[in-house]
Amino acid sequence: MSERVDGSRRPPPAGRRARALRERLEALLRQHPPVERVASDPVAFPRAALAAGAPRPAVEAVALLSAMLAYGAVPLFMRVIRGLLDEAAAAAPREAAGTAFLRAISQPGGPRFSLGYRLSTAAEISRFAGAIGTVISRHGGLWEAFAPGWRRAGTVRAGLITLHEALWQALGTRPAAAPGGLRHLLPDPAGGGCCKRWLMFLRWMVRPDDGVDLGLWPEVPPAALLIPLDRHLSRLARALDLTRRATDDWKTAEEVTAALRQLDPLDPVRYDFALCHLAIAGDCTHGRHPERCAPCPLADVCQPAPPRTRQGKP
Ligand code: SF4
Repeated sequence: MSERVDGSRRPPPAGRRARALRERLEALLRQHPPVERVASDPVAFPRAALAAGAPRPAVEAVALLSAMLAYGAVPLFMRVIRGLLDEAAAAAPREAAGTAFLRAISQPGGPRFSLGYRLSTAAEISRFAGAIGTVISRHGGLWEAFAPGWRRAGTVRAGLITLHEALWQALGTRPAAAPGGLRHLLPDPAGGGCCKRWLMFLRWMVRPDDGVDLGLWPEVPPAALLIPLDRHLSRLARALDLTRRATDDWKTAEEVTAALRQLDPLDPVRYDFALCHLAIAGDCTHGRHPERCAPCPLADVCQPAPPRTRQGKP
């Protein structure tokens, strides 16, 4: 059990309520099959590299770039990721998308992309991509930099910490000495934040290939994953009574995952993609448009927080 925001301990959903929630979530998967939404999700980029026959390290590289740029408005970051991959492809037109990207980021002196995105300049994105290329050159792949921590401690967090360290070593600097736009692309998995982009990258790598996730790291069981929590997912988790914690941090991700484990112990993040895309597709506005809740398969187990007034009060 995890600590509640009010200091008490909350039990995970159990028994009849867990069964009811699982049934509704399965109905959500049937009503919104995740494979039909892949083109609107950043996983589309590593999936395209995989389909083109790119080797595993190249797919990992495309995946990490795509995951770390996946914040803000979906159409905007999708356009930037596509643009970066197109720049790499233009330099090696005969190679598959992922292979061309790995070649571009592995060249001496690093890549020189022309696109920035929100908090990160083009130079910072180029440094980040160059660090991915360096880690792959030094270790053989991103898995090889993740595996030592995973094997030592048996937690995905420990694996992320060793991968994170390898990337900063490749950058040749410390986070404290780096510009904010670079730090934003490499959040610290030991820092207590919810690390949504790291955990989404892990979901892609670890869950078996189901047409969405990639199944490239089979040594890690899906049971070890944590939910990639963002503002939408955490509001939904509260509405579904999976947590009452008020902050969107690592502890909340652990608590929500523990609750989801009651529904599927072997694959607790099974519903992540479908829940996430309720917001991306505009189907869920957290009760602001009650007419959208009526056809939602979760309607009778979901209690969204009351809409806030213009003054920000419920
Ligand atoms: S707030 Fe409404 S649309 Fe969103 S998950 Fe709950 S019932 Fe469905």
